[in-house]
Amino acid sequence: MINIHICEKATERMVLAARQAYPQECCGILLGKKEDSITVSDIRKANNLVTGAQNRCHFEMDPMFLYQVEREIERSGLEIVGFYHSHPDCKAVPSEQDLHYMIPGLVYAILSVTKDGVADIQYFQK
Ligand SMILES: [Zn+2]
Repeated sequence: MINIHICEKATERMVLAARQAYPQECCGILLGKKEDSITVSDIRKANNLVTGAQNRCHFEMDPMFLYQVEREIERSGLEIVGFYHSHPDCKAVPSEQDLHYMIPGLVYAILSVTKDGVADIQYFQK
């Protein structure tokens, strides 16, 4: 079980990002604090480098973006606690590729999104 608290603002921004990107997959960074439990207080939307048909089941984040966010939060007391991405018309369950790329200790949010909006958000950790 993951001990995690997601602030309302972070959830709202993830939901919005998933809806806006639909039917493409969205991805981004979860910011917050890692103590006894993980708190997610904000997100940063990233561009999905993968485009076209395979975009619906795979995402890749720009390493430069990751670097920029790290610089941005350097003195804010926030840290990168995980990543989120959406599964358009698919369940909020990690794919084999998702599992393969998970970094232990980080939280992975997966949003199941359809044309009607976000149906489910699940959180995973390796
Ligand atoms: Zn996925």
